[in-house]
Parts: sequence; C-alpha cells; structure tokens
Amino acid sequence: MSDFLVNLFWFLLFVGGAIYLAYNRVNLFTSTVAAGGALLAYTIFGSGSFLWLLFLWLMFGVLVVPNLRDFRREKITRPALGIYRTMLPSMSDTERDALEAGNVWWDGELFSGMPDWDRLMSFPAPKLSDEEQAFLDGPCEELCRMLDDWDISHERGDMSPEVWQFMKKHRFFAMIIPKRYGGLEFSAYANAMVITKLASRSTTASSTVGVPNSLGPAELLLHYGTEEQKQRYLPGLAAGDEIPCFALTSPQAGSDAAAIIDSGVVCRGEWEGEEIVGIRLNWEKRYITLAPVATVLGLAFKLYDPDHLIGDRDEYGITAALIPTSTQGVQIGRRHLPLSTPFQNGPTSGKDVFVPLDYIIGGREMAGKGWKMLVELLSVGRAITLPSTASGGGQAATYATGAYAQLRKQFNLPVARFEGVGEALTRIAGHTYIMNAAVAVTSGAIDQGEKPAVPAAILKYHCTELGRKVANDAMDVHGGKGIMMGPRNYLGRSYMAAPIAITVEGANILTRSLIIFGQGAIRCHPFVLRELYAAQDENRDQGLIEFDDALFSHVGYAISNAARAFFLALTHAKFSRVPLNTPTRRYYQNINRYSAAFALASDFAMLTLGGKLKQKELLSARLGDVLSSMYLASAVLKHFENQGRPASDLPLVEWSVRTLMYNAQEQLHSFLRNFPNRPVAFFLRCFIFPRGRTYSSPADELGQKIVELVTRSGEARERLCQQAYTTIEPGNPVGLLQEALTLSEALAPLEQKLRQARKEGLIDAEYLDHQIEQATSAEVISGDEAARLRSYHAKLRELMAVDDFPADQIGRAGAAIHGDTESATPVARSAARSKAAARKKSSPRRRKAAPGND
Ligand SMILES: Cc1cc2nc3c(=O)[nH]c(=O)nc-3n(C[C@H](O)[C@H](O)[C@H](O)COP(=O)(O)OP(=O)(O)OC[C@H]3O[C@@H](n4cnc5c(N)ncnc54)[C@H](O)[C@@H]3O)c2cc1C
Repeated sequence: MSDFLVNLFWFLLFVGGAIYLAYNRVNLFTSTVAAGGALLAYTIFGSGSFLWLLFLWLMFGVLVVPNLRDFRREKITRPALGIYRTMLPSMSDTERDALEAGNVWWDGELFSGMPDWDRLMSFPAPKLSDEEQAFLDGPCEELCRMLDDWDISHERGDMSPEVWQFMKKHRFFAMIIPKRYGGLEFSAYANAMVITKLASRSTTASSTVGVPNSLGPAELLLHYGTEEQKQRYLPGLAAGDEIPCFALTSPQAGSDAAAIIDSGVVCRGEWEGEEIVGIRLNWEKRYITLAPVATVLGLAFKLYDPDHLIGDRDEYGITAALIPTSTQGVQIGRRHLPLSTPFQNGPTSGKDVFVPLDYIIGGREMAGKGWKMLVELLSVGRAITLPSTASGGGQAATYATGAYAQLRKQFNLPVARFEGVGEALTRIAGHTYIMNAAVAVTSGAIDQGEKPAVPAAILKYHCTELGRKVANDAMDVHGGKGIMMGPRNYLGRSYMAAPIAITVEGANILTRSLIIFGQGAIRCHPFVLRELYAAQDENRDQGLIEFDDALFSHVGYAISNAARAFFLALTHAKFSRVPLNTPTRRYYQNINRYSAAFALASDFAMLTLGGKLKQKELLSARLGDVLSSMYLASAVLKHFENQGRPASDLPLVEWSVRTLMYNAQEQLHSFLRNFPNRPVAFFLRCFIFPRGRTYSSPADELGQKIVELVTRSGEARERLCQQAYTTIEPGNPVGLLQEALTLSEALAPLEQKLRQARKEGLIDAEYLDHQIEQATSAEVISGDEAARLRSYHAKLRELMAVDDFPADQIGRAGAAIHGDTESATPVARSAARSKAAARKKSSPRRRKAAPGND
C-alpha cells in the first residue's frame, strides 16, 4: 500500500472517528477509550515520527484530564465558576418569574441540536369531541350568521344586544371554565377552533370571546383562586352574568408592565359596617378589554404594608385581586376605539377604593405573587387567542381572495393568472397554512399537558405578523374593492385591526427582540439554566459540583454541535436520521441541520457576549427567528401528518417549510455578518456554511401549483379554510364568492361557447347581457343556458360591486363613530347635530355595476 493510502487511512480513522463520536454524542469516557485505542494502534502500526507521536499523546492527555473529576473540579471548574459569576447577567425577580414560566417542549429539542422527532410524532393529532364539534356546527355557526360586522363596527359601535345575549346564553365566555361551575370545559384545541371561526367573520366578536377565555379572571381563579372565590365568581362568569376584564397596563407602564405604580396599601377601614384590615387601592389603567362593560375587574397593583398588618414586610410586589365594579370608587364606562374595531375596551381608574384582603386572588398567601401568576398563564394563553384570530383572518382571506382573483377579470383574464397576483396568492395560502399548523399542533400539545412558554411567544409573534402579511396581500389582490368601506367590504376591517393583535399580550418588537430567544436560550438550552442556578447556589460546594457537571456536559454538547453542524452542512443533511421516508423527508433533515447550526451559534453568542447579549437585540432577534422558523416548519410537517398526509396539500407544505427554512438560513447569515467578534464569526461560518448559503427559496413553479389550489374549488382549498365561516347565504360574501366560483366552473363551457361565437362573428355586442341575447337568438346556447348565465353574472356583479354613500353621510358617519359628541371639536359637534335628522333616513347605497363590465 502506498504511503498516501496509509496516511489517508490514519487520517480518516482519527478525524472521521472524532466526527462520528461527536456527531452521535458518545459519552466522554467511551470517547476517551476509543481515542486511546486508535492512538495505541497508530503508535504500534503507524509510521509517525517520535515528535509527532509525542504531540499526539500530549493531546490525548488533554482529553484524559476531564475524566478525572476531582482534579478537573478544582483546577478547571472552580476558576471557571469564578469568572462565570462575574459575567452573569443581572436578573430581576420579575425576569426570573418570566423565565421560569411554563415548561420546555419541542422547543427544547430544537435547541438541543439533535431533535428527537419521535417525541413530536408521538403526540396524537388534536381532535374535537362530539360535543365540541356540535358547538362549532351549532351555536358557533349560528353566532357567525348573526354577526353583521358593518352594523357592529360602523352603525352601532358594539355588538347588538341579541348577539351579547346569544353569546352569554351559549356560554361562549365559558369555554375554559369546568363543567362543575357551569362552563363548557373545552379543550385548548376546541377553544382555538371557535376563536378561529369567529375571527373569520368579525374581529370584534372574536376579541370579545377571546379575552374571557384567555388571560382573565376565570383563568386566574381556576389556577390560583380559593375554593370560596371560585364558587363566588365562576358560575356567574360561566353564565355570562359576570363580565370579566383584566387590568394590568397603565399609562406609564406598557411593555414594562412590572413598572406599574398602581398601589394597594394594607390598612384598617370600614367594610359593611365593621372595621377590618383591608387594602386601599389607587389605580389608573388604560387599554383594558371589556372594562367598559365589566362587572368584575381583575386588577394588578403593587401591595404595600407600611404598618405591618399582615406580616413583617413593607412591600409585597405585584398582586392580583378581583374587584366587583360596583364597589364604591371604581370608574369604568369610557371607551377607547381600537382602530375602528369597536370591541369593548377602555380605561379604568379607582381612587382610595377600600376592599377586603380576601379580594386578592388566592387570598392573603398570594400577596405579591401576581406577576408570577400572570406570566405562568401567559405561557399558555398566548398560544391560543391571538394566533387563532390570525389564523381565522387568514382562512377567510384565503377563501375569499382565491375566489375573487379567479372571478375578477382584467385584460380578459382572471387576475389570478397574472404572475404578480399569483405571487401574492401563494403567500396568502402558504402563510395561512403555517398559521393553521402552528395553532393546531401547539394547542394539541397544550391538551396533552404541555405549557410551552417559548412556542407560545413564537406563535404570538409569528402568527400575528403572518396575519398582517396576509391582510396586506389580500388587500392588494382586491385592489379598490378592498379599500372602499361599506357593508360589502369583507377585508378592510380586519386589515385595519391587524396592528391590534401585534400590540397586545406583549408587543411584537419586544417579543421578537427579547422574549423568543432571550427566554429560549436560558429556558430551553439543556445546560444554561443548570449552570445559572449552580452559580447562584448559596451552598458553594454543592454549586461547584452541579456547575462542574453542567459545564463539562455543555462543552461536550458544543463540540457535538460543531461536528453535527459541519457534517450536516457538508452533506446537505442527506444522511441524517429522520422519522419518515416520505416526500417530506428532506425537510426533516434540513431542520436537523439548522438545529445543530443554531445550537452552535447560540452557544458562541452566549459565551462571547454573556450578559451583553440582552442589549444586542438584533442578534437575539435573528437567533429567535431561526428558532421560530424551525418550530413553525416542524409544526407544518406534524400538521401534514396529523391530517393524514393528503397529497393535494404537498405544494403548501413544501412552500411553507422551504420559505421558513430559507428564512432560517438568511437570519443565521445576517447573525454571522453582524456578530461583533469577527474571528468567532469566521470560525462559526466555516462550520455552519462550509459550502456557502445553499438553500433556496420556493421555486415559482411551486407557487403556480398553489395558485391552482386556492383559485379552484377542491378539497385542498376547503381543508385550508376549514374553520372559516363559509356558509353560502346572503350577507356572507366569503360564502357567496365560493358559490360564484363553483358556478363559474360549471358554466365555463358556456362561456367558451360565447367566446367561440364572438370569434366566428355570430355575436358582436359589447355588453354581456346583449351577447347572451344574441347567442340565444343564434342558437349558440339554449334559453335555459342563457338564464343560468344571466343569473351567474348578476351574482358576480353584486360581488364585484362596492358601496357608496350620500355625500353628507361620510362626515356624519365619522361623528357617529366618535360617539361622544362632547369630546368632539365644536365644528364637528355642530356638524353632527345639524345632520342628525338625515342620518335616520339615509342608508348606504349600493352602486350597480354597468352590465357586462365584469
Ligand atoms: C386593543 C388593545 C387591548 C388591550 N387589552 C389589554 C387588557 O385587556 N389588559 C391589559 O392590561 N392591557 C391591555 N392592553 C395593553 C397592551 O398589553 C399594551 O399595549 C402592550 O403591553 C404594549 O404597551 P404600550 O402600548 O404602552 O407600548 P410601549 O410599551 O410604549 O411600546 C412601544 C414599542 O416599543 C417596543 N418596546 C418596548 N420595550 C422594548 C424592548 N425592551 N425591546 C424592544 N422593543 C421594545 C414595543 O414592542 C412597542 O413596539 C391592550 C392594548 C390594546 C392596544
């Protein structure tokens, strides 16, 4: 054998063996024995010089040291722990509570660099019970029928009394309340599906139902309330006799909610004729959903006990209490107008409101635990209400826009056939698929007992952002039809409302910049939290042992991730193990690759930047994007499996995963490009992108398949918009567009006959009605066919039409929206008064489209 081959053999044995051991995370002891064996063999059979062998044995010595636990603890770990303590980022109690909220689920696997797909795949597909399905098909469908969004948002500024009554009667506000208190006790998945359906019809309705079923008094009581408090409030909340709200946000404390200055001072006071120890509350809150009509106000405030009436502390911190709004001094009733979506939202204040101590949720022992309660509950709630709202909006937009783009013709072609419009349609459908998948898979996991805090933040941020993108694209495809407000406009209101979901439950910029990666890095990382706690352990010896174990496991994990990231990038992850051998196989492999790359990049970011990473929000946000892309892509793959792997959905799955993973690649690239430590960035790039950025975004051809799928009637279109309110009935344009789409497909042969007749000169009229007449006379089509064509085109004209109004009603409608004429300007007040009489008589007029101009 030539020297070259012999040397190649030894090289492969050492380098390949090292990569193999690291790639498979073989433990330190076994790896050391394997390395020792290989080195011994090389010493005996190889041809290395003495110096070379000496060097190799010295290197082996370095590998042996970590196996000597006592030695390494004293000589390596102890000094390392000292340095680590100086680097530790400062952490307030509220930050700690936020970090510890919820539990770690699939996000932990993605953080590991070696996701165990069996864990995700073993979760059962979420399913509605018969009772939940009956609720969706019954009361929920009926409620959608009753909702008239124009009446709600423009005429009335509220839902009608009948709608309120219907919601209460059918316990829409009690989906999370157990049956023993009179609630519906629905699963998280059912809760999400109800909100999705309502959101496809009216954002005002979905917000009104969403809040009591999300983070509010009922949820707080269920988890933390005393039995007495539960008995007192839950039956009333379930029956809708009590309307809840939860007030945390103050004028000076929005995103930094822990900075509220609203106070409760423990003191003596008179309550129902007796002197008791209670709390004197002062607050000023704003933006509170349902506050104007609430009967019970959940209130967050800081509790003080200067006279030590309940203990020996001066301050207890954020505390949550339930205050009946009938209590003397509670101010509610005024309203905000959130972007013309008039769900009940407004300020509340209270001055020297005295209440008993047992108004604290959970009683006196829960004094000061309010923040912990809130972040714990947010870790679940954030995954449901807002993501489902976005998904519902997306489904309605997909269903309507797909049909509209096929029906609306310009240049004698459906606008859907133009590639630019097709690109927007593709995004609308793909983004909706991602939202559907994320909501279904995550709510399904919650029903299995998970409390996925980081995925909840991912869903909150990404679904609401995708919802906004879908709303934008849908508006563009509709052109003027989406812009002219009126009863016929089914898009404008949800387009306007998109920033609401972006802002609430943790505004999106903050969620992306601070929470997703910030919480994920510490919470989901297999070792960081262990190291952090070990470093803070007051028992220093125990802390050293714990830290030592975590540190060396961490080093092994980082080496493994480097090997995995490099090998997977080099081979395009073609050999990585995945759970299924299906057409989606490559996507699982790509997630494996990015999981390793992400874990490696995260470790180096934390190692080199330490506590400064918290201020480097752009770097943190980009890593958060990579984690989010992997999470959402996994949800898409799991959703596809949960739905029985329908072949017609494959283009949607491929587009979604490819878009997400392309985004992961680009965000990792931007992260490395902006990483302040350039040598480390170079080193990371060698491991993460040894072949450059090789992953491409979806091909145009794939987009074309998706356009076909959403612009034609079919199972994939129906499945994608499964929860949307698509019933064909007057007043539901989303359903009527589908009816027209089906008719256009059925009548396509007749339309073809007309076109042929025009070509042959048998008909020459400009307007469609006249063409039909001529075609009937020329016996190109029968009388019956002519009637069908006329009926279809009448429907089409109606669907393409927009509203217009008497000129003076536009200004008056503005005054009506403001409602409160006292706070309007004098000019607006006098204009509103002078036009009041005319307002009663006139109503929007629907402009008839010119015949045949469709
Ligand atoms: C329609 C609606 C309903 C609401 N309902 C309720 C309710 O029922 N109960 C309740 O208590 N509250 C409610 N809120 C309040 C909501 O939670 C707050 O609006 C939200 O927390 C943001 O606060 P802010 O609006 O004061 O924005 P600010 O805190 O002033 O933030 C402004 C911008 O700065 C960004 N930002 C702030 N800090 C950081 C940071 N460290 N890093 C990066 N970016 C940052 C934010 O993301 C945001 O983009 C509601 C709000 C709205 C609009």
